Amino acid sequence: MTDLVFQRCIHPHCGATTDISSTAFACPQCGGLLDVAYEWDRLPVPKALRDFEAKWSDRHNPLNFSGVWRFRELFPFAPDPMIMTIGEGQTLCRQSDAVAQYAGLKPGKLYLQYEGMNPSGSFKDNGMTAAFTHARMIGATRAACASTGNTSASLAIYCAATHLMRAIIFIGSGKISYGKLSQALDYGALTVQIAGDFDDALRRVREVSGKLGIYLVNSVNPFRLEGQKTVMYRILEAFRWEVPDWIVVPGGNLGNVSAFGKAFSELLELGLITQAPKLAVVNAAGANTFYQIYEKQGVRWNGGRPDTGRIDSFMQRMDADNARADTLASAIEINRPVNLPKALRALERCGGVVREANDQEILDAKAQVGAGGLGCEPASAASVAGLKKLVAEGVISPDDRVACVLTGHVLKDPDATVAYHTSDPATFEAKLGKRGVKRAAFANKAVQVPNDLAEIVKAIEYNA
Ligand SMILES: *Cc1c(COP(=O)(O)O)cnc(C)c1O
Ligand SMILES: [Zn+2]
Repeated sequence: MTDLVFQRCIHPHCGATTDISSTAFACPQCGGLLDVAYEWDRLPVPKALRDFEAKWSDRHNPLNFSGVWRFRELFPFAPDPMIMTIGEGQTLCRQSDAVAQYAGLKPGKLYLQYEGMNPSGSFKDNGMTAAFTHARMIGATRAACASTGNTSASLAIYCAATHLMRAIIFIGSGKISYGKLSQALDYGALTVQIAGDFDDALRRVREVSGKLGIYLVNSVNPFRLEGQKTVMYRILEAFRWEVPDWIVVPGGNLGNVSAFGKAFSELLELGLITQAPKLAVVNAAGANTFYQIYEKQGVRWNGGRPDTGRIDSFMQRMDADNARADTLASAIEINRPVNLPKALRALERCGGVVREANDQEILDAKAQVGAGGLGCEPASAASVAGLKKLVAEGVISPDDRVACVLTGHVLKDPDATVAYHTSDPATFEAKLGKRGVKRAAFANKAVQVPNDLAEIVKAIEYNA
């Protein structure tokens, strides 16, 4: 299998390749990012995407039950017996007219791809099952990541469920929501809390894993992105194998947009689709590096030769200003996205745009997602907040068919939700007001009543 699958530098003018078993996750020649690459001509590929539906009738096979691995012919890097699945990818793509109306789309046009249904409650499991499988193929016994929370929860659950590896988690201090931290601790991961932020933790975990030979599962790991491609296959499946006009996704480390772009360019190459959807990436305004670089500086992939001078000087300016990412959407509170070049490539291949949404817009959109019957964490709602802007700008038409990816479950960050809906002005001010959120337009405040039957009855009759 090895000669059919390998790792390849993403820059076409370099094109260096390395063995599938390499865990350096950097080009041996130029240090750039790597793709998992396949000799498609010599691999069995389905003739039509519809063929994947046959797997539904064989759900006693865990590989076909998995919403990731039932598409494994589209990322055939692992022999079946090596694959580690815990039933990830059983997710919903639900039409939502309530949220469509909020965003300005016509009824029937908006679908929410709800990745909160994964075993650890976020889309990260799609990628973790793939990276974990690769780690197993090369015989790793310890795996590590830096995390704003969900990657660590995901790694920890795979280690706990399979007992194949020890999870080591690096987190920044005070920057992780309790929902996520509680998962890592409960699943038994070794949790190392660093005095610093996510970017510091990522730098350290790369150093330490190199030094100690620990398998790295951060999104610089190209195998994770192979698993994340399947989010798009499931959306196509929900659209009865038709391609929507737009995919809207929050952007932090830019793993998703990179994976989605790769998924669509491969499907085009394989003749399984004839046209890709456009991609819209939504940054938090307090962590808007990609927005700045793509929309303000105008940097493009440029066939593999992006203007690295502009990117580097932008990063140096952030360093000089000691700029720190700052948003309530902690899962995308990242200023130095490791997959930036791949994200530029994805936008060139599919066409697309980048927008930013501030915490006010994100929390309002999040409340609308909840009121529409699917709860998500703040970072996820950036997709809906961004969609609303793009419709208002006329970039996305009210008639376009759109899928917004909801990346994580509402219970990941109950603090943000409760603070938004609080009836106590002091709590609102301390948790949200101080951070620039002025009002909670869609707050559902608890009704305060004395412990008295008549008063309780009166309050219910008055309010409902
Ligand atoms: C990790 C994470 C993101 C950011 O993912 P990228 O695609 O790598 O930018 C967004 N939302 C949630 C809930 C996450 O856990
Ligand atoms: Zn290279």
